[in-house]
Amino acid sequence: MTSGPLHALQVWLRHEPEEPDLELVCAEHPDPSRGDRARTVVRLTVCASQLPWHELAELLLVGARTVTVRLDGCADPDASAQNVEAVARVLHAAGVDRLRVEGGEPAADAPGQADKKGRGLRGRRVHRPRPVLDGAHLPVPRRRLLGLGVDVSRALPDMHAAPQVRLTAAVRALAAPGVAVAASADPAATATAATTPISTAPTSTAPTSTASAGAAPGPAAPGPAAPGVAAPAEAPTPAQAPRDGLDDVNSPAVVLSAPGCTACGVCVQACPTQALTLQHNGGGAVAISTLLQSPSACDGCQRCVELCPADVLSVAGQWRWSDLLTDSTRGVATVSTATCTRCGTQFPTTSGERWCQVCSYRRKNPFGSALPPGVAVPTR
Ligand code: SF4
Ligand code: SF4
Repeated sequence: MTSGPLHALQVWLRHEPEEPDLELVCAEHPDPSRGDRARTVVRLTVCASQLPWHELAELLLVGARTVTVRLDGCADPDASAQNVEAVARVLHAAGVDRLRVEGGEPAADAPGQADKKGRGLRGRRVHRPRPVLDGAHLPVPRRRLLGLGVDVSRALPDMHAAPQVRLTAAVRALAAPGVAVAASADPAATATAATTPISTAPTSTAPTSTASAGAAPGPAAPGPAAPGVAAPAEAPTPAQAPRDGLDDVNSPAVVLSAPGCTACGVCVQACPTQALTLQHNGGGAVAISTLLQSPSACDGCQRCVELCPADVLSVAGQWRWSDLLTDSTRGVATVSTATCTRCGTQFPTTSGERWCQVCSYRRKNPFGSALPPGVAVPTR
């Protein structure tokens, strides 16, 4: 479970009856009480350069009308602007202009009550301080303690999902409002639900994957409505979400290529976000094993590439954000495999061998304990 620096704010927002215009200010800001009084000001608990992208985007999902990150007073405004603008750019490309960065001088105070020109009795401008909420100790309304007043349409994100999965789900939901999209904690669970054939995997600009074709069937078409049952109103699907702007924005997810893959499954085990799956189709002596990647779950860490024992997995480019709007999986490699009749592991085969490499080697070397050179410990 990952609860980041904006989680408490997300919980608080969900109980707010009105959608506020949030202004996030640095923890060290000397005086955030000055500025636009129409905004709700929250003092951050961390530097804006460390705000997680997924939590920033999720603020707009759970109840903020707009989010402005104010950088005057920030100790490292360049890094902070870079961090926030990275996610603002993605949202902008998706048609969502509700996350902004504001630097420089704070906005002028609203006029005080002294006179109509906003001047005090001695002609000086009156400063009426804005209330500033502490991001670490947000108020808890009584209605919340009683479990009342929660807007159920603003669901909290899945805290068990990986950050990249949460960011993708947030961008997808913001780009196509009205489509129920939840960040799944187990992207692999959706791997078989919608699988895109390998030949259509890369975008026009992404490098071509070397995976072979015919990996898996496409998504199932919805069936007709039962007689006498009104067809449901047509809701936009995630695939119909705005894609044009996102076609030009690289995501962190990497396009993988694995010519010569042995279907050992080490990369599947190594992936921290469960973005990779290995499917074995066919229960006979020979099966077709397909290595699949879910781009919407990949955060580009490349741990899979580093740990591939056969050294055949490589990065061939980056997926575009538009490729992440659906839950489809993309083929990385397809290989013919057989089940070892001795140890039961799946191993690549070309000529109908019955024993895997390791069992064959051990049979020939009954007193040896080492694996043959270059062979990884097989996984089932
Ligand atoms: S780069 Fe590889 S290990 Fe990292 S998230 Fe993507 S698929 Fe998983
Ligand atoms: S670790 Fe390498 S050889 Fe093993 S399944 Fe992954 S890509 Fe294929």
